[in-house]
This record gives sequence, structure tokens and C-alpha cells, in this order.
Amino acid sequence: MADKKQNKKQNKNYDEDYNPRFRKQRKKVCVLCSDKNFVLDYKNPEQLRKFINDKGKILPRRTTGACAKHQRDITTAIKRARHIALLPYAQN
Ligand SMILES: [Zn+2]
Repeated sequence: MADKKQNKKQNKNYDEDYNPRFRKQRKKVCVLCSDKNFVLDYKNPEQLRKFINDKGKILPRRTTGACAKHQRDITTAIKRARHIALLPYAQN
């Protein structure tokens, strides 16, 4: 009887540890909000390269972790950089 009760408890712990719904979520913090000295510049392709993938596409907010306001700034900066040929529109 006592054993049965213990097994039930262990199973419950197992579910909480491995059920993806209970997985710990790492809170992403916006790079531009957290770093006050970080000034986004469309004339600096090295800086903008962090926000595009290897195909030259702009990374989504879920990947960059940027807030809505700064993601807009990043997008604008990348598009400006592309226009003056500092960044590619597409690769391969
Ligand atoms: Zn931000």
C-alpha cells in the first residue's frame, strides 16, 4: 500500500520534468534595450550582420529577441544597408 502511493508520486514528478509544457523558458532580452551604448547604424554592416541569416534574410523577432520597436529599427537599418549595397538582398 505504501509502495503504491510512492510510485504515484514519482510518476507525477517524472511528468513535470519531461513534459515540454513545463520546460523552463529563457527570457530573451532586447539587445538594444539592454545595452544603452549600442547605436544601430545602417552604415555599419558588421553590426547588422548579427540580425540576418546566412541567406541574407532578416531574422524574426523570436530569434533576435528584440522588442517590437527595435525590431522595426533593425529592419529599416538592414533595408537601408541593402539599398547602398553594404548588405546582400540574397545569397546563392
Ligand atoms: Zn528594445
